[in-house]
Amino acid sequence: MVSQTALKGGNIAYFLSQDEIPTSWYNIQADLPEPLPPPLDPKTLKPVSPEPLFRIFAKELVLQEVSRERFIKIPDEVLEAYKTIPRPTPLIRAKRLEEALGTPARIYFKWEGVSPAGSHKPNTAIPQAYYNAKQGTKRVVTETGAGQWGSALAMACAFFGLKCTVYMVAASYRQKPGRRIMMETWGAQVFPSPSERTRFGRSILEKEADHPGSLGIAISEALEDVLSDESARYCLGSVLNHVLMHQTVIGLEAKKQLEAIGEEPDVFAGNIGGGSNYGGFCLPFVADKLKGKSEAEFVACESAAIPHTTRGKYTYDFGDTAGITPLLKMLTLGKDYKTPPIHAGGLRYHGMAPIISYLINKGYMKSVAYTQTQVFEAAVLFAKTQGIISAPESAHEIRFVIDEARRCKQTGEKKVIVFNHSGHGLLDLAGYEAYLAGRLEDWTPTEINYPSYVPD
Ligand SMILES: *Cc1c(COP(=O)(O)O)cnc(C)c1O
Repeated sequence: MVSQTALKGGNIAYFLSQDEIPTSWYNIQADLPEPLPPPLDPKTLKPVSPEPLFRIFAKELVLQEVSRERFIKIPDEVLEAYKTIPRPTPLIRAKRLEEALGTPARIYFKWEGVSPAGSHKPNTAIPQAYYNAKQGTKRVVTETGAGQWGSALAMACAFFGLKCTVYMVAASYRQKPGRRIMMETWGAQVFPSPSERTRFGRSILEKEADHPGSLGIAISEALEDVLSDESARYCLGSVLNHVLMHQTVIGLEAKKQLEAIGEEPDVFAGNIGGGSNYGGFCLPFVADKLKGKSEAEFVACESAAIPHTTRGKYTYDFGDTAGITPLLKMLTLGKDYKTPPIHAGGLRYHGMAPIISYLINKGYMKSVAYTQTQVFEAAVLFAKTQGIISAPESAHEIRFVIDEARRCKQTGEKKVIVFNHSGHGLLDLAGYEAYLAGRLEDWTPTEINYPSYVPD
């Protein structure tokens, strides 16, 4: 139970005991009004069957990807690891921010920055490493942008005795040694991507020796590596259905915490890179909206430099740049979209989770986009009031929440606003430095070449 003092309203942070950690993940595929459009084979344009994917992902993860079961039990070993990092995470009322804004709104956030990796990403890294170790995988391979996902997976692999290879986007590898060192401390091998280790990487380096890399290129390299080693499997840190499902541990905890203190939120906000932290946070609440039990508003916040949902097209596209993956129906800017080097590295991906794309396309969820200057301004106010130096990704929903709370001040609405605070920004201080020095550059695309692999 949430403690009695919390119920009296005196508390600012609401903790659950570790006995109350959710024991199942929630799978929204059980409750969508229709099945999601299936992944397609790019050659035949026919739905892909799960079996060939067993060569790429751990079998259990593929089965979860297509499952329509509402709740999937969290294995005991995974629960133990969740408790280690530690879960449940607190739900915190941002009272000092409310006071600074003079808003009648009540603002709460779920705080995922307490994990050793500094973000929500261990919530899926742990089960992904666990299922791989259980089926006898020797090595897992992945890509990472700024290093948040790579470090979460490296830690999870250390827990379960797996080798871990990470292709890290070259620009971040050079500019952000901090997360590379974290990955190496947890025992992973890290290579800058594009690398000399794969055919695809070499083909890019031939044309441009100091290519900065991209997430799409790094995914292609990781997949090529896995396909050349039978004892290896691939892991993805966002976008896919099973990843969002693992992250629902966030929303399920938040639901218990909010119920215990008697709050019924009007607005749920979060940032979207590939859609996993926001999906994991909001899907258990979206379920109530789908069933007509709630009128709450869902607001996904993205970067105006990678406007995949506000300006993307809902169509089939590849998940990677080389075009190895099945085609996924999603809001996308196209696999060749040149993601600009913004400080919110975790938001630099051309596509969006099929589940989030579907919900936005059908109008169950809306999305908004902000520039870097807008988000760092909000992040600095949050740091001064709440103390936390937020990940630049998280600063996107903080921008929205501050604007919404200010609107409430104008209208007098006593809205309850809850957001998922996905991580801390202590390894992203260069972005703060640039903002404080007035050197931050904003960027928005003028022209977007949308993909058209499948006729609409
Ligand atoms: C990776 C990351 C994100 C964005 O990824 P999603 O899959 O959309 O959650 C957001 N915040 C932080 C702190 C991250 O590390």
